[in-house]
Amino acid sequence: MAYDPNNIFARILRGEIPCNKVHEDEHSLAFHDINPQAPVHILVIPKGAYVSMSDFSANASEAEIAGLVRAVGKVARMAGLDEDGWRLLSNIGVNGHQEVPHLHVHIFGGRKLGAMIAKAGL
Ligand code: AMP
Repeated sequence: MAYDPNNIFARILRGEIPCNKVHEDEHSLAFHDINPQAPVHILVIPKGAYVSMSDFSANASEAEIAGLVRAVGKVARMAGLDEDGWRLLSNIGVNGHQEVPHLHVHIFGGRKLGAMIAKAGL
């Protein structure tokens, strides 16, 4: 899948639309999800143009990959999630129900999150 430079997260990265920023560094940006599914629901995205984790893992530089992973851990610690635990999730493609075609990882926390995959809808 080709990268769409007009996807909503690309527009956030260009400053064309606002976000509720949590963290930013050379390679990544983290912001609160606009439709939170848990008391804490933060998205972490790379600044580079990658469609998904599949694209990113194949084509990003070592520095970009390290930057995103370091940012995920930092954001979770900043949000105070480590003591009680949290969940990391990234949806990929149609079966993964990915809605925004710019790689993002979801950080969920602040309550017991239940089973990993809901049975409803299967
Ligand atoms: P996914 O299904 O993994 O692609 O999830 C996309 C996520 O992006 C959803 O949880 C949306 O609520 C979230 N989202 C969409 N637009 C925005 C936005 N402008 N700011 C923050 N989060 C957004």
